Amino acid sequence: HVDSRAPFGTSQEGILKNHSHNSVSESPEADIRDGIEGCIGNTPLLRIKSLSEATGCEILAKAEFLNGAGNSPKDRVALNIIQTAEQEGLLTPHSGDMIYEGTVGSTGISLAAICRARGYLAHICMPDDQAAEKSDLLLKLGAEVERVRPAPIVDQNQFVNLARKRAAEHTADPNRRGRGIFADQFETEANWQAHFSTTGPEILNQTGGRLDAFVAGAGTGGTISGVALFLKPRLPELKVVLADPQGSGLYNRVKFGVMFDPKEREGTRRRHQVDTIVEGIGINRVTNNFETGRELVDDSVRVTDQQAIAMARWLVEKDGIFIGSSSAVNCVAAIKVAQQLGPGHRIVTILCDSGSRHLSKFWARAGAIGGTDDVSLDDILNL
Ligand code: PMP
Repeated sequence: HVDSRAPFGTSQEGILKNHSHNSVSESPEADIRDGIEGCIGNTPLLRIKSLSEATGCEILAKAEFLNGAGNSPKDRVALNIIQTAEQEGLLTPHSGDMIYEGTVGSTGISLAAICRARGYLAHICMPDDQAAEKSDLLLKLGAEVERVRPAPIVDQNQFVNLARKRAAEHTADPNRRGRGIFADQFETEANWQAHFSTTGPEILNQTGGRLDAFVAGAGTGGTISGVALFLKPRLPELKVVLADPQGSGLYNRVKFGVMFDPKEREGTRRRHQVDTIVEGIGINRVTNNFETGRELVDDSVRVTDQQAIAMARWLVEKDGIFIGSSSAVNCVAAIKVAQQLGPGHRIVTILCDSGSRHLSKFWARAGAIGGTDDVSLDDILNL
């Protein structure tokens, strides 16, 4: 196969021929991945040593920030959404077709990177209160970015509604070259199915099926539903626990079946107005991806911003693990579950993305680590 788009008159065949003299690339053991798509999935499961020692449980975390396209679990979802659309004949690689998505950032970044690799364009609608690192990165990846004021889902300009509208405008415009599709991460089955077919099986294999609890937050709900749907039938004793940030209604959805606690009535219904620095998880509406697995979620844990900050600092200080806000929420919930289960249990959670994507917001509040923190896990849970 000769790639006519290869630069400087060099055919890919030529490049491959030259490399074939290199014995390393010929070795059957060589671990060579095919582009960024080949670097998605099969992430390490790491033991968080400090949390394991302090709880007496084994706290394991799927290092999803090591996914190699957009550096989050959304790589799995974005790839599956695109591949599914290609199989359905809705997209053609290297055609310049345009993918529209509403996202707080991670899914957009994964889509934008994979779009580049497959010859698509990306148009991303996102709320303007998210860390600037994400929109900057999207622009550097060549995506079109529309940042809009946070708004309730009934508002036409809410970021998800706007992305859907932009895709429809593209389709209706006879002068547009290429097709436009709406990726629709909140509702599409391709989201939870990506986790059902990759994240879930990887966790089962990596633990040898020995795990007592799986803990994860939900933005769309794709991760928790997909993993729960895969693991629960195989491990009926497994406890699946939602980690929910302050201001989100999903905690109540799991506990009471509705988005707000009838006894509280206050404060839990307006995620877009709630003051939280946690990004990517927590929501106040029903999504297909969360509802698909909701019956399999056994419990939920509420995590405050202060707890998330203290956990993020702890993980840097004790383990050198530098993560973003949703990962910190997951780890707080994981130690709460460890406390509930008691020593000797094994708990798996997710490290979604790196702290470097949260420098200007979450980490600006969390501050630098001076090696002087003297907090216990009990202190964190009491924050
Ligand atoms: N963490 C981050 C940083 C995210 O952006 C998201 C997705 N919005 C999640 C966690 C939650 O994943 P899911 O959508 O599968 O519930």
